[in-house]
Amino acid sequence: MKVFHKANDIHTWLRSEHLTHSIGFVPTMGALHAGHLSLIDRSKAENDLTVCSIFVNPTQFNDPNDLEKYPRTLTDDTDKLLQHNCDVLFLPTEEEIYPDPSIKARTYDLAGLEDRWEGANRPGHFQGVCMVVHRLLEIIPTDRLYLGQKDFQQFLILRHMVRHILHWPVQVIPCTIVREDDGLAMSSRNVRLSEQERQDSLVLHRALQYLQQHAGQQPLQELLQAAKSMVTSADSIQKLDYLAIVNPVDMAPVEDFDDAATLLAIVAAHLPSARLIDNQVIKGQLADW
Ligand code: AMP
Repeated sequence: MKVFHKANDIHTWLRSEHLTHSIGFVPTMGALHAGHLSLIDRSKAENDLTVCSIFVNPTQFNDPNDLEKYPRTLTDDTDKLLQHNCDVLFLPTEEEIYPDPSIKARTYDLAGLEDRWEGANRPGHFQGVCMVVHRLLEIIPTDRLYLGQKDFQQFLILRHMVRHILHWPVQVIPCTIVREDDGLAMSSRNVRLSEQERQDSLVLHRALQYLQQHAGQQPLQELLQAAKSMVTSADSIQKLDYLAIVNPVDMAPVEDFDDAATLLAIVAAHLPSARLIDNQVIKGQLADW
């Protein structure tokens, strides 16, 4: 695996490789788990070269405490990437990503996609995400960009940026959520959970499953109320930011089961040691749209 630290070095090398090789790119913030590695595997299967970046991007953290506590496990990450035959690892410093203030001054018109849910609860978060991925795509010539559906709103926003703001020929590919055996969606932040919190965190997945199992049988608003009670009854849930059913095309909330062909249930909640998010299709299929 080739490892680069400098934007110019990786850019020059990949530009030349790109003349004859397709490139798949997996941007991450490290503390890699099986979810990240599934993106690497998918990229390996679909491209000649797979590039992974690890960069804990300060501009997307609205909570300084979350940034400070974000797990950093570079040696372990490198081993995992080697095991999965990742071809190229990019480990930039902040100076390489934001070499001058104009890059941090960039703003993105996200056509309302950032107004709700994660965007509403984490002011500035998606502008920071766009900033870093835009910059990474300038550095890394990319044919296919692999993103996890766990961060579904992030996927929609980055696809919007690539298609409608940058107009670049990058295919943005959503990848299935990888879960622990008991259903908890894998997340780098899970390592911060205490034993009790880890146990209680399962209510998020259970509530989503409950919605999936009962969707279409009872009015959605009743189901949502029941699912919200399930989540908030767990001791470690300090605050439920949202539990909603949306149309995955634009993340607008739906009132009734028949309002959209595909329905996505989304949830975000604070536990003492971490804020967790998850989602699940409860009607139709994401591949439909
Ligand atoms: P992060 O390091 O958290 O910024 O995540 C890097 C990429 O991995 C993003 O595209 C995430 O959506 C994706 N990802 C994170 N967790 C999972 C998971 N459990 N399953 C699939 N993809 C994931």
